[in-house]
Amino acid sequence: MKTFEEMDLIAPLQRALKDEQYKTPTPIQAKTIPVAVSGRDVLGCAQTGTGKTAAFALPILNHLGQRNRKAVSQRPFVLVLAPTRELAIQISNSFSTYGKHLKLRQALVYGGVGQATQVRAMNRGAHILVATPGRLLDLMDQGHINLAQIEMVVLDEADRMLDMGFLPDVKRILSRLPRKRQTFFYSATMSPTIVDLAKRMLTQPVNVKIQSKSASVDTIEQKVLFLRRDQKQESLRSIVAAEDAGQVLVFTRTKRGADVVARKLDQSGINTAAIHGNKSQNARQRALEAFRKYRVQVLVATDVAARGIDVDGITHVINFDIPMDPESYVHRIGRTGRAGASGIAISFCTEGERRELREIQKLLGSSVRLITDHSQAPTEQQHRSSTPHAKGRSTARRSSSRRSSPSSFAQASTADGKPKNKRKQRKGRNARQRVKQASTSKR
Ligand code: AMP
Repeated sequence: MKTFEEMDLIAPLQRALKDEQYKTPTPIQAKTIPVAVSGRDVLGCAQTGTGKTAAFALPILNHLGQRNRKAVSQRPFVLVLAPTRELAIQISNSFSTYGKHLKLRQALVYGGVGQATQVRAMNRGAHILVATPGRLLDLMDQGHINLAQIEMVVLDEADRMLDMGFLPDVKRILSRLPRKRQTFFYSATMSPTIVDLAKRMLTQPVNVKIQSKSASVDTIEQKVLFLRRDQKQESLRSIVAAEDAGQVLVFTRTKRGADVVARKLDQSGINTAAIHGNKSQNARQRALEAFRKYRVQVLVATDVAARGIDVDGITHVINFDIPMDPESYVHRIGRTGRAGASGIAISFCTEGERRELREIQKLLGSSVRLITDHSQAPTEQQHRSSTPHAKGRSTARRSSSRRSSPSSFAQASTADGKPKNKRKQRKGRNARQRVKQASTSKR
């Protein structure tokens, strides 16, 4: 593998990398930077936490640094599209970090805030425009942004763009880009729709796949705690209060849930903030900053709001609710264990959430062992009385301890604690094959 010094990057970038104390390129950087610098398109299957921002930012900055042109009013040379404001801000910060020894200007365009500052930045001229699709189209339609001079485009987290309903916007933006350009396309997953979009955008790309599994699994200890809904808050509190807990990121399914969990935790004396779509952009940024600067220990978030959160040193990710979509699980737990650090992911699972948990186990495959703890799981009797229509099932022992301690976790055979039989193994294998096929088909 090439070191950064061996890569064909201009001196100001090499200096910035030294400042950041980046020694070895991550796999995605090693595979894509040399080809991107040589002008090829890139199709990358990778998620945040793998170092993909630098993988596209460095070749872009290298190109702009070599050309050394003045920025042109309203006409950027580079466009980076991101699904959420948080991710856009983060990408922009990365460009500032890696490009700090270059005299380049960038503009950041996203919705939910006034447009005046963004319009001013575009009028002044920016080499690089980092934007979310909706506001970008809005400003284009108003005549504040023209994409005719774009030379390089990045579509980041394409799968999330789709999930958030941005596909029509993305297609409209694409139709305004010059045909002759270099394109970097990144997605954590490769569904047929994504592959189709990638085909439209890319010309003979270099395909790079960085296993999201390895990013999520290798350095992260994954645990599942079986409990009743009314035990979740207390379990969370004891995990956060335990000695090994540093910065803790908690995921809930709903915005209201995020507020309730954050309020209760805060009331119990643990500094906590919440971040979700109903909060203003400024409130979200403030919460994120407080978390990043260790002013609050816990950040409670919903999936969409948490996209792009890149905070080093998150020791625990807690799934207060199991995500509906197994891919979200991989995204969530990837917030810890970043850039090779270790991390712990703990998922709270009630009886009603076992189906979702099984889907997650299927996606992860049998090589990934979820460490399970049934000590707080409801007994058959309790379960029957709390869920009158559920079939009785004796799955759990009950311990007298109500306190959750991560050390009480024990290795178990499957995610829901039941031994695997042959049929189930086959089903899991088929599901994994489907995921695999979806990600490789039509390439
Ligand atoms: P990303 O996947 O781009 O969100 O990056 C995840 C984290 O890894 C960020 O905090 C980066 O600063 C860090 N990072 C990226 N590349 C490297 C590298 N080569 N060496 C060390 N840290 C890195």
